[in-house]
Amino acid sequence: MAKKYQNFINGVWKDASTGKFSENRNPADKDDLIGLFPSSDENDVREAVAAAREAFKKWRLIPAPKRGDVLKVVGDIMLEKKDEIAFEMTREMGKVFAETKGDTQEGIDTAYYAASEGRRLFGYNAPSELKNKMNLSFRIPIGVAGIITPWNFPMAIPTWKIFPALVCGNTVVFKPAELTPKTATTLVEIIDEAMKQVLGNEYIPGVLNLVHGKGRVVGEEFLANPGIDLISFTGSTEVGRRINEVGGKMLKRVSLELGGKNAQIVMNDANIDLALDAVLWGAFGTTGQRCTATSRLILHKDIHDKFIDKLLERVKKLKLGYGNDKGVDVGPCISEAQRNTVHSYVEIGKNEDRATLLTGGEFSAEGNLSKGWFYKPTIFTNVTRNMRIAKEEIFGPVLAVIKCNNLEEAIDILNDTEYGLSSSIFTNNVNDAFTAVRDIQAGITYINGATIGAEAHMPFGGVKGTGNGHREGGWTVYDFYTEWKAVYIDYSGKLQRAQIDNY
Ligand code: NAD
Repeated sequence: MAKKYQNFINGVWKDASTGKFSENRNPADKDDLIGLFPSSDENDVREAVAAAREAFKKWRLIPAPKRGDVLKVVGDIMLEKKDEIAFEMTREMGKVFAETKGDTQEGIDTAYYAASEGRRLFGYNAPSELKNKMNLSFRIPIGVAGIITPWNFPMAIPTWKIFPALVCGNTVVFKPAELTPKTATTLVEIIDEAMKQVLGNEYIPGVLNLVHGKGRVVGEEFLANPGIDLISFTGSTEVGRRINEVGGKMLKRVSLELGGKNAQIVMNDANIDLALDAVLWGAFGTTGQRCTATSRLILHKDIHDKFIDKLLERVKKLKLGYGNDKGVDVGPCISEAQRNTVHSYVEIGKNEDRATLLTGGEFSAEGNLSKGWFYKPTIFTNVTRNMRIAKEEIFGPVLAVIKCNNLEEAIDILNDTEYGLSSSIFTNNVNDAFTAVRDIQAGITYINGATIGAEAHMPFGGVKGTGNGHREGGWTVYDFYTEWKAVYIDYSGKLQRAQIDNY
């Protein structure tokens, strides 16, 4: 009998009010049942929000350095359990062990950064217009943060959101992706253990609540419930638009990290082998299921043919399999539905004008692979910028190669998308590199690096359709989880007036 997991509300692990569960299975082996997770509904969210509102009254008064101490212990526990967390994450969502270890390490880095931020939530002071008066400003927490996350970084992305939210003094209701509830449960267990260790008798139930379930049930209640003050969402553009719409009407603060259609440019003076390593990593790492994945490769015409020959040779050597097995390069797609979406885009590509299917384009079902949702790494050449496979996010191991004549055209093609998350250029020409930094429309640009691999202490997010202007990571995310309060202290002993013409 598979283990039954629970929600975590007001400091207590409990079943969903529906009494229902849903299965969580290994995408590399559908016979491997990981566990049964609660199918919650609105009532569970309402209970969690009420608990978080009550907890906020006390949590906001815990000094920020002490809230930071909780995150320090969270980082320590995660570090101790890194291999165990990564193994279970690979089992749950498919990417290879080295990558799930990286996902966990990113959570650890974020924990230690957040811990130090507890002592650095700086405000500003400013001179006053008037004598004997002092002006200060400082950050205050907002209230209850609703956190909604996707499945592709099941540890890192929740930590990017939950850790700064907590350090800033907010309380949290967390709804993880339906496909990765186990990693989310582990994270909540760790945070709760750290809370108990650091706070002892001061432990406050309800600071962090976990509600499993479907986006259109549990997630929708996050939007509708007036007790949630801010929503931080990472996921598809379609759902992001909906959250922005409803959240906007309710005057909620909303942070959106959405899709991407990222490109790598390779110029004719580039180090070809380096650029090859990067595109293989960027396009087929995490089975292409990263928001920053390289889904377009823009090759200068002078090196196009040579590059494609080498790329084909290298792609054929990639080994597909269960990510916890040694020597595996590429895991499965997350689900049957996702694999079908990938395949439908391949069919679209095959029917598009002149696009040529160079390799892949089919399920991988040899031997044990038939038990999982494997798809062969796929490359289309002769792609032009207006084809659907060059424009729409596929979220799978599919790379579209576009030929260009010069730098200006390469950047123009790169920018010709509704998204603007990550980007990369390989060149040894310093002028071209700086021109690219200036002209590429993206939140992230790598020079001589793959489009994937953000660092935890740097701003993360995109321009245009990738988001709504907020950033995660580093110092920037702290603006989202706090309000500014301005304080004027008049020690003149008389009523001095600003906003009156004193000059
Ligand atoms: P998704 O939008 O289907 O789901 C994301 C989360 O939203 C899940 O927890 C889901 O249950 C929830 N949800 C679904 N419908 C909802 C609704 N109506 N109201 C509230 N919540 C709802 O995305 P996914 O398939 O989990 O993830 C893949 C997508 O995420 C891709 O588009 C990818 O580019 C994007 N992504 C973006 C970033 C980034 O930082 N920009 C990072 C990772 C993934």
